[in-house]
Amino acid sequence: MSNIANSGAENSHKRITGLVLAGGMSRRMQNRSGDATVGAIDKALMPCAGRPLIAWTLQRLRPQVNEVLINCNRNLEAYAQWGHPLLRDRFEGFAGPLAGIHAALYELNQRPKAELDSQWLLTVPCDCPFFPEDLAQCMLSLASDDRDLVVARTPEAEQPVFLLLRARLLSALEHYLIRHGRKIDQWYQSLRYSVYEFNEISAFRNINTPEDLKVAQGLLASPLLDCEALALDIAAFEHTNVEIQGQMRLQGSKTPMPDRQAQPNDAAIKSASDASLHSLPMIPIEALKGALLDRLRPIERRQWVCLKDLQGQVLAQDLFAGYDVPAHRNTAMDGYALRFKDLHPGAATILPIGERILAGHPSEMLPPSSAHALRVMTGAVLPEGFDVVVPQESCRPVDEGVWIPAGQQLGQHVRLAGEDLARGELVIRAGSRLSAIHLGLMASLGIAQARVRGPLKLAILSTGDELIDPSCAGERADGLLFDSNRYLLSAHLTRWPSAIVHDAGIVADDPERLEAVLADLGRSHDVIVSSGGVSVGEADFTRSLMARLGQVQFCTVAMRPGRPLALGRVGQALYMGLPGNPVAVAMTFWYFVAPAIDRLLGLETPAWPLRIARAAVRIKKKRGRTEFQRARLETDEDGACLLFVSSNQGSGILSSLSKYPVIAVLEHERGNIEAGESLSYVRIEDLL
Ligand code: AMP
Ligand code: MG
Repeated sequence: MSNIANSGAENSHKRITGLVLAGGMSRRMQNRSGDATVGAIDKALMPCAGRPLIAWTLQRLRPQVNEVLINCNRNLEAYAQWGHPLLRDRFEGFAGPLAGIHAALYELNQRPKAELDSQWLLTVPCDCPFFPEDLAQCMLSLASDDRDLVVARTPEAEQPVFLLLRARLLSALEHYLIRHGRKIDQWYQSLRYSVYEFNEISAFRNINTPEDLKVAQGLLASPLLDCEALALDIAAFEHTNVEIQGQMRLQGSKTPMPDRQAQPNDAAIKSASDASLHSLPMIPIEALKGALLDRLRPIERRQWVCLKDLQGQVLAQDLFAGYDVPAHRNTAMDGYALRFKDLHPGAATILPIGERILAGHPSEMLPPSSAHALRVMTGAVLPEGFDVVVPQESCRPVDEGVWIPAGQQLGQHVRLAGEDLARGELVIRAGSRLSAIHLGLMASLGIAQARVRGPLKLAILSTGDELIDPSCAGERADGLLFDSNRYLLSAHLTRWPSAIVHDAGIVADDPERLEAVLADLGRSHDVIVSSGGVSVGEADFTRSLMARLGQVQFCTVAMRPGRPLALGRVGQALYMGLPGNPVAVAMTFWYFVAPAIDRLLGLETPAWPLRIARAAVRIKKKRGRTEFQRARLETDEDGACLLFVSSNQGSGILSSLSKYPVIAVLEHERGNIEAGESLSYVRIEDLL
């Protein structure tokens, strides 16, 4: 058991200096890169996703600490560009990371002695740009008066270069180094240290070889989506459709699949080929959703949230009981506590009455020498030896004390310490979406804050020259319409308390403006959701603009409403471009965006709660696409549920989602539905 964090306030007086360890020889990178010149490669300075590797590390570290130092032994001019003090090893001959740590401790020890007690050093290697954004906060939560050092640990192993240590450890380290000790873990094992257990394994991934660097590049450029793989999946769906059409034309001639490295999602291909039987060049919705969810990566960012704000958050680490609940043996009833051995077997007993004990006021009495009963109120702590509670309504006061009837059982109405939760027990698993019950449980354990996934930074925007914000009703003119999509989207997004939603407003159909806005959002957000023409890529400028900003696939989805959908990456952000029409926005949000957000937070989206009804009259439906038709229900005289679809299924008819209570879900394969046939529907209120 670990990670039972203490409060931030306790740590507020501590000062943390961050140290980036970049003083090594980059030997593995050197050997694998084929450059034999000794010292030719300085790993921290190698370009990775457009910047030197160390720039990513610094970006992560800076917000967590009071100041940053860099330990480096070569290329000092290059390292100087970041403006942090540079420290060379004070021990000769590339003595490893401990020499770098030593140099930093030495530096800190030159400062006024009075500051040393509250001064801590947080060390990170230069080649590990994914470490937690709350690393310092987590480690600091275990820094106590009787601990000199905290080390990070993942399920596989300790991470000995991720240390939080006291500045006053300088002389201990110097002794170790002078005796030619070089192993970090061997050194700190001689100290009083704690281990912080992180369960996000990949956050501590480090880059040692050119192959590692390539993987890191992909992850830094697009942390939440494997764009390449999604592009291949989508190309495979489209190719399969084209191929089948070609076969139909040429009667059996086969088009070869394009060369590709990654394997497209199999379920997706199967579903796509099913669709293509109907020779529609569209992607079946289930296939596309499956591919998207498979190619998303859950967010690695974590934050600490206080108890009252934890509802709906996703727990990032297992929570263990730090105490027994209840903490002591106590009474479950108002009545009399006594010792079983003082009762007459098989007969009533009269006992003198001793102390009165109330909940919250434990007795300090010594074990009694003679038989007697204690007056106890529910929740009162039972003194040693008192092992039976008799409810007051079963007893009778008499002159000598209290009369207890026969037939009492050992242990009755006694609550045992730890019977609810035992100290050390796993109480809530990482990955749980926290409910009111979880919050109650945490409170019962004295847990005032928890580490959760996120925040997930989302931006929403609407595109279109015709749009004005509802707050500008005075500016309404011919040809303009109020932007409803952003309001529909932002209201939906409150479902995820881990999401911070930035409303980027309305962007006109102006390529330069769009490019500037999207480029900016792509740097500062995890997810961008847009609606309108930009997403659809109708105009050529949209496609070339998106190609400059990232990698976006413009998909034609076999669904109605909601056919056009853009998916991919803009800058570092996951981009989801929804159609413009409001009902299509709602449907694509429910079908694609909501499950994607769940996935980014590591949650499974429950399937829609589909119900069954009968078509009241014939429903027109095109085979080869999924249709979502707004409908109402009636019960006939036999109690059967009949479904009537609206006559206006236009994707712009937003009021249909309010006038009609349900949506008929008419599956991809189905054609027209005859009166009396059964079909599935979902209640709109279940999607909200
Ligand atoms: P577009 O995909 O840009 O061609 O948009 C299709 C239609 O959706 C437009 O003609 C508008 O009527 C409507 N539309 C687009 N964006 C919005 C919005 N934000 N709010 C309401 N309606 C919209
Ligand atoms: Mg438009």
